[in-house]
Amino acid sequence: MQPIGLFGGTFDPIHYGHLRTAFELRQLLRLTEVRFLPTGNPPHREQTIANAELRLRMVRAAVAGEPAFTVDDREMRRSGVSYSVDTLAELRAEHPRRSLCLLLGMDAFLGLPHWHRWRELLALAHVVVAHRPGWKAPTQGPLGEVMVDHGTGSIRDLHEQPAGKVYIHAVTQLEISSTELRQLILAGRDPRYLVPDEVRRLLLDTQCYSPHT
Ligand code: ATP
Repeated sequence: MQPIGLFGGTFDPIHYGHLRTAFELRQLLRLTEVRFLPTGNPPHREQTIANAELRLRMVRAAVAGEPAFTVDDREMRRSGVSYSVDTLAELRAEHPRRSLCLLLGMDAFLGLPHWHRWRELLALAHVVVAHRPGWKAPTQGPLGEVMVDHGTGSIRDLHEQPAGKVYIHAVTQLEISSTELRQLILAGRDPRYLVPDEVRRLLLDTQCYSPHT
């Protein structure tokens, strides 16, 4: 059985940087599925701007045309703060022997040591890191050690073992961020070609990032 990719994020809003990364990693790693997991109440940043229900609608709209992309709303259904380690433990219990690949941008990877019980993550899943513009792989500190102990350049490792490897790979760099998108919309500009049309439509209809909301 081929690995499942897990792509968590606030997705406030989802954009082509997320979608292209998921698409390229799915092809490269031969993932059967990339599962998008929008966060409920994110632990490491200020409150999201669009509410959970709308972020979920945008993610669903964005992936609707790609059968290998699925949406898992378990973090949104959980009350209180939701931690990736709990989500991964649940998924591991559901798929005891399956390879699970947690897909992260380099910025998210560099923040990993601040995640709740982060050292347990690699017992539950592999970590696959997509390069983002301007970010370098860590060589020092706790993540430098993680790279020495868990780093691999072999996709086969990700297929043959259920968890425990860190694989870093360059993806087409689309320098789009949700923060910049919100600022652009707030400034009255059009997010066209930065997000799928269906997401743009929801942004326009709900005015969720517009100044008066
Ligand atoms: P923000 O600007 O608010 O930080 P974001 O655009 O980084 O948001 P998130 O929902 O926080 O979006 O990111 C979810 C995941 O997608 C993270 O692992 C992040 O590193 C990755 N990611 C975000 N933008 C890109 C991009 N342009 N290319 C590749 N990966 C990305």
